[in-house]
Amino acid sequence: MVEKIIAYRLNSLDQTMSQLNKEDCVIIAGGTDVMVLHKSRRGVPPKIPKPIVFIDHLSELKRVYQNHNDLHIGACCTYSELLENPFIPIALKNAIKTIAAPAIRNRGTLGGNICNASPAGDTLPLLYVYNAKLLLRSIKGDRIVAISDFIQGVRRVQRDYNEILAEIILPSISEEGAYVYFEKVGNRNADAIAKVGFAGYIRIKGAVINDVRFAFGAVGPTMVRSFDIEKKLIGKTIPLTNADIAQVVAAFDKIIKPIDDQRSTALYRKTVALNLLRYFLSKKQYQQI
Ligand SMILES: Cc1cc2nc3c(=O)[nH]c(=O)nc-3n(C[C@H](O)[C@H](O)[C@H](O)COP(=O)(O)OP(=O)(O)OC[C@H]3O[C@@H](n4cnc5c(N)ncnc54)[C@H](O)[C@@H]3O)c2cc1C
Repeated sequence: MVEKIIAYRLNSLDQTMSQLNKEDCVIIAGGTDVMVLHKSRRGVPPKIPKPIVFIDHLSELKRVYQNHNDLHIGACCTYSELLENPFIPIALKNAIKTIAAPAIRNRGTLGGNICNASPAGDTLPLLYVYNAKLLLRSIKGDRIVAISDFIQGVRRVQRDYNEILAEIILPSISEEGAYVYFEKVGNRNADAIAKVGFAGYIRIKGAVINDVRFAFGAVGPTMVRSFDIEKKLIGKTIPLTNADIAQVVAAFDKIIKPIDDQRSTALYRKTVALNLLRYFLSKKQYQQI
């Protein structure tokens, strides 16, 4: 017999937050991860152990706007909507174009990719190098948390049962001299889960590096980023020397510890990750955001 599922689709964000406060529910935005996570036998509806709250229709979670220099992205914007939006940086659009196929992009959301906290989530390396902050909302109020604090491990996030991820904030998005780069390595250009993801950010004044950030995806339980290694490059000039590049690559070689799985081997992942880093550091010119 098919089990009954209790599902709420409430008219406003306030009503949805009140419901979440009353009852521990599974939030569904696009459902493209939730449905796979709870799938059961072919032809049988998924088994979701708690009541469901749908949030995909809430207009409060779909706004994209710029506040001063910060870009605010509603957590329930689908990938297809973001691809159409002129505020979204080209690097993020490039990452989105590698995700799944159009049908999934019409349902899947940026907030879902973050809250699902897969090591292979394609938007995550970029969101880490943008120093993304997350606005979490509940009936008790708002809190803002860095993405690197929010994501704690494989499918583990620091979210209270009554909180909704409302916005993703990309601070100081259009700083002069800032360049950002994204690369995903998978079996195909799209519709493939990443074997390795890499994002690099660099801000240059004249030829001097003022800020630099790197994040690697699918090579550890969460994105690999190191402030200590990044700091070593501040004040250096472009193009970097071979010795500087080798030092940074060697430092990441020590901390990147991928695993073998059905998609790739640890050796391949590490080799490719370091090659992408080397390529980014060797550039003589960087592409504008
Ligand atoms: C065929 C297929 C191909 C895919 N390919 C890729 C790919 O190439 N790259 C990739 O990165 N991913 C891929 N995915 C995974 C998925 O599409 C993405 O992770 C997507 O961004 C999830 O968004 P969603 O809105 O569907 O999340 P949902 O499934 O609705 O939710 C995912 C998780 O986040 C929680 N959640 C969602 N929104 C919120 C919110 N606003 N506040 C609090 N919690 C929330 C949910 O409770 C759940 O735990 C693929 C999935 C499928 C089925």
